Amino acid sequence: MNFSALLLVALSSIATTTAFLPLPQAHPNVLRISTSSSPSDVLVALEMASRQATKWEKKQKWLEGRGLSAEATDSDGESSNAVNIIIAGAPASGKGTQCEIIKEEYGIVHLSTGDMLRAAVAAGTDVGVKAKEYMDGGKLVPDEVIIGIIRDRLEEEDCKTQGWLLDGFPRTAAQAAALAEAGCKADCFLFLDVPDEILVERVVGRRTDPETGKIYHMTFSPPDAEDEALIARLEHRSDDTEEKVVVRLEQFHTNVAAVKGSYEDIMVSIDGNRSPTDVSKDISESISAALAKRA
Ligand code: AMP
Repeated sequence: MNFSALLLVALSSIATTTAFLPLPQAHPNVLRISTSSSPSDVLVALEMASRQATKWEKKQKWLEGRGLSAEATDSDGESSNAVNIIIAGAPASGKGTQCEIIKEEYGIVHLSTGDMLRAAVAAGTDVGVKAKEYMDGGKLVPDEVIIGIIRDRLEEEDCKTQGWLLDGFPRTAAQAAALAEAGCKADCFLFLDVPDEILVERVVGRRTDPETGKIYHMTFSPPDAEDEALIARLEHRSDDTEEKVVVRLEQFHTNVAAVKGSYEDIMVSIDGNRSPTDVSKDISESISAALAKRA
């Protein structure tokens, strides 16, 4: 895109988002874009017309409505009121589905270590190469591989200002200790409790739409039978097999007590063997209760 086209997009974005609702300087989506195609290499400050911006504003109103300060950032851009959540549970306990709802509701940054590692494997990075053999076998990747990635990611500005939702991390006592050492404190630790026999059934029928990230189950939550394009693009994870899930569950049971033990004071155990709507209702109440405590 040349400089004039970029500037046009920038100006129309500003016009659509800020005409009636000026965003504060600390807004997480004030971006600076370097326009190398411009002769003077101008920096254009953009107030982004994005769904994230809307979510951020929604969260400010939500916090205000609960008597919490709506000013989320200080002069360094450090967040004081960002909502930080950890969601845990066995494979296919419903974390992914609930994360979609939570991130929509609170506008926080969703970090799924499984997704991050799959992306690293697909891109063939050093981390991906190291992680692949463990993931293929259904085993946890070594702590030293995953801890650095998450710590670096949590240092980024969006996590500090918008808050974070950790999905699939920490999965071991060492990971929980590393998170605490890095000063990353969660407001609540949600644990989705589902019996093993249900998990196996869920894993085997699970399919993901790579375009939207939406998760389906071929029996319990099937895609629209007439949507042939969707059905054709659905992906079945290579570790979502009966054989691999046995190993994944073993790894989960070996570590879960230690992880839960690290968050006893903020842990809420939720019956995950119900409809996503019912589970989501409990999650919402638990997050509200956790935030009310800190008010
Ligand atoms: P998930 O998508 O959360 O089921 O994760 C898929 C796979 O990624 C797991 O079976 C592990 O091999 C690896 N993985 C994801 N998160 C972690 C973690 N926190 N620690 C170690 N391995 C992980």
